[in-house]
Amino acid sequence: MGKDYYEVLGVSREASEEEITQSYRKLALKYHPDRNPDDKDAEAKFREATEAYDVLSDADKRKMYDETGRVEDDMGGPQGYGSPGSYYQQVDLAELLRRVGSWGFEDIFGGGRRRRRRPSVDDPLTGNDLRADITIDFMEAVFGTKKMVSVPRKQVCSKCKGKGTTSTDGWETCETCGGTGAQTSVTRMGPMQFSSTRPCSACGGKGMKLNDPCKKCGGEGRIDKKNKIELDIPHGIEDGSTMRVADKGDDGVNGGAAGDLYVVVHVDDHKFFRRHGYDITCEIPISITQAALGDTINIPTVDGPARLAIPKGTQTHTVLRLKGKGVPHLRGRGRGDQYVRVILHTPQKLSMKERSLLKNFEKQRPSKKEYEVDDGV
Ligand SMILES: [Zn+2]
Ligand SMILES: [Zn+2]
Repeated sequence: MGKDYYEVLGVSREASEEEITQSYRKLALKYHPDRNPDDKDAEAKFREATEAYDVLSDADKRKMYDETGRVEDDMGGPQGYGSPGSYYQQVDLAELLRRVGSWGFEDIFGGGRRRRRRPSVDDPLTGNDLRADITIDFMEAVFGTKKMVSVPRKQVCSKCKGKGTTSTDGWETCETCGGTGAQTSVTRMGPMQFSSTRPCSACGGKGMKLNDPCKKCGGEGRIDKKNKIELDIPHGIEDGSTMRVADKGDDGVNGGAAGDLYVVVHVDDHKFFRRHGYDITCEIPISITQAALGDTINIPTVDGPARLAIPKGTQTHTVLRLKGKGVPHLRGRGRGDQYVRVILHTPQKLSMKERSLLKNFEKQRPSKKEYEVDDGV
């Protein structure tokens, strides 16, 4: 078991979401790898705090942690949170930083970096991660399918190749800040004098200005374009699963890596089948005679009709199993089963003949007692 997450973040067990976020932000700034280059202790603390924040900032995970002290690692670490094999302890640092950035803590980045060196127009930047949603039907989720999703993403401008300009001297030194990227302003309050330095407003702190922007992208270097992306949806996928498509987020800037695309897969209900993990359930009506005498009937399965034997003397709501007619396992081999609940259907309208047949049938039955409550003597 790792350290207590509340202790790691230095908050009480009753801490609000805001307190948790604030506390994490502080720790992340302090131990950020950019500010602590080659400092393994700081890196360990950064990883630990990030893991704690992931668990405590998620209502479900926090509840599970509070109740059981253990949380499954849903990020793909081989072991649970709090172990040396957890995602946050294993993942490489660049990927971890990218993830933290995607949580909206961009402000903790560059804090250290900018202090050492102002950003240049040539800095490679990683593109943003994107999210898309797709809905597939029940059968597609059972057997897997290929789908196209159309995703608007920022793509490198084909005309300027992402440079923002097509002329060799398209960029020039910013006149406002003289290329430093910073502007200093002095404020006087009585005898006191404050000076503050801000990124230059004319060039956004780059120190360079574009004087001949690319006609196609207007100087941004990237263009919003819909991209059709083929998804290979695996068999056995469950409603609400997320698929990661590497490098299909926004393209990076200045040759930076592209972000990833996360596709949330929704699965429509089926009119007959329900899913419970890899098992499929359904209900089927049978008649009194089928239940009493037994029968073999056709049952819909995801593979098409199958024969199901109803044993004689079957009671209503009995659940019968069709082995191997469930959902193929998402990873590896094997399939779930299909569970068929038989519902005894009592006839509501009887002809004269049916009525007398049933009455005769009742007379044939050995005498039975009326229902009595046993007082236990
Ligand atoms: Zn362009
Ligand atoms: Zn400037």
